[in-house]
Amino acid sequence: MPNYYQPEIETASQEQIRAWQDERLVRQVRHVWDNVPYYRKKMEQKGLTPEDIRGVEDLHKLPFLSKDDLREAYPCGLLAEPLENCVRIQSTSGTTGKRVVAFYTQHDVDLWEDCCARAIVAAGGTKGDVCHVSYGYGLFTGGPGLNGGSHKVGCLTLPMSSGNTDRQIQFMVDLKSTILCCTPSYAAYLAESIHERGLRDQICLKAGIFGAEAWSEDMRRDIQDKLGIRAYDIYGLTETSGPGVAFECGEQTGMHINEDHFIAEIIDPDTGEVLPEGSKGELVFTSITKEAFPLLRYRTRDICVLSRKKCSCGRTHVKMSKPMGRSDDMLIIRGVNVFPSQIETVLLQQGYPANYQLVVDRVNNSDTLEVMVEMTPKMASDSLADITRMEKSLVAEMKAMLGIMAKVKLVAPKTITRSEGKAVRVIDKRKI
Ligand SMILES: [Zn+2]
Repeated sequence: MPNYYQPEIETASQEQIRAWQDERLVRQVRHVWDNVPYYRKKMEQKGLTPEDIRGVEDLHKLPFLSKDDLREAYPCGLLAEPLENCVRIQSTSGTTGKRVVAFYTQHDVDLWEDCCARAIVAAGGTKGDVCHVSYGYGLFTGGPGLNGGSHKVGCLTLPMSSGNTDRQIQFMVDLKSTILCCTPSYAAYLAESIHERGLRDQICLKAGIFGAEAWSEDMRRDIQDKLGIRAYDIYGLTETSGPGVAFECGEQTGMHINEDHFIAEIIDPDTGEVLPEGSKGELVFTSITKEAFPLLRYRTRDICVLSRKKCSCGRTHVKMSKPMGRSDDMLIIRGVNVFPSQIETVLLQQGYPANYQLVVDRVNNSDTLEVMVEMTPKMASDSLADITRMEKSLVAEMKAMLGIMAKVKLVAPKTITRSEGKAVRVIDKRKI
C-alpha cells in the first residue's frame, strides 16, 4: 500500500522544489502554446513566445487568466488535449454566472487524487481509517476528489454525499467513521444534529477535512469542541482540479500548497504586480503538471498570504493562509466593505450556529442588509420577548463589527437552504 506521505517530495529542499518548477513550467507553457489557441493569442498580444519562459523567474511575464476568460472560452476553449484523451469533467455550480467546466485525462485524475491523499494523510489518515465523504458527488469536485484520495490511502471509503442527515449519522455510528470530509457548514450542522440525538458518545470521529467555503477560526473551535475532533482545512477550486491544491497539517497554521504541481503567487489585485513573500494579496495559481486543463497564472480572487516559515510537520512546501475573503465575496453596502466572514465571527462569538444568510437589497436608493440567523433548538424555545432581545443584541454587535446597521432576523433551526452541503450565504437582490 503506497504511503501518501511522500517525504522525498513533501520535504524536498527549496532548491529541489524550484528545480522541479523550472523544468515543469517550461514544459507546461510549451504544451499550452501548442494546444490552446485562446491562450497563445494572449501570449502573442504581449509579444511572448515559449522561448521567453525559461523558468519560474519569467513567470511574471505571462498574461493572467481570469474567471471571465474561462467563461468566454466555455466549454472547450482552454482544452489542451483532444477530447478523446479526456476521461472526466467536473463543473462549478454556476450560481455566480456561467458554469466553468474542467477536463481531466486519466493522468490528471491520478495526480488530483494523489493531492487529496496527501491531505488525508496530513490529517492523520491511514489505511485503517473509515473515511466518511459527505461532500456532494457528481459535477461538484468535493465528493469525487476526497473519494479518490481516500481510496489511494486505503481507507474504507463511505461515499455518502451530502444530505439525509439521519442516514449520515447512522452510518457514522454503525461503521465507526473516523474521518469526516465535507463543507464546514455541513460539519457544523451534523455536529448539532448529533448532539440533539444524544449520540455524541457513539461517534468515533477523530478528524475532519473541511473546505469549499470560507470558515473562521471560531468555527473551527466550535466544530472541534462539538465533535471532539481536529478539524483541518483543505483548499482547491474546480478550475485547478478541485480540493487538494493545498491542505493543512498538524500545525493547523495554514495550508501546504502542493508545489510539485502548482506555483503560487500573490499579486496586488488592482495593479497585477507580484508582491513579495508575506504580503497580503490575491492568490494566483499556475499548474505545471496538467494535461487536459492547464491554467497559467489563474487569478483565484482569494485574498491571502504565503509563508515559507519552517513548519513543525517537516513539510517544506509553501503555506497559504486561510483565505481572508474573496475579492468577489466582498459586498459594498452603503459604501462600506463587508465580508460574510465578519458576520460569522459575530455569530459564533455570541453562541449562534454558523448558519446564516445575508440578503442585500436597495430600497429608495439606499442599500439594506438583512441577516437571517438560525437559532439553536434551545433558543427557538425561548419566549418571543427573549428572541426580540437577542435580535437587538446582535444588531448592536454587528454594528460594532461592520460599521453599518443591519437588520437581524432569527429563524427556526435548519430553515436556511443548503445545496451540495454548501450554505448559500449571500442573496444580493441588487444584482437580480
Ligand atoms: Zn506543516
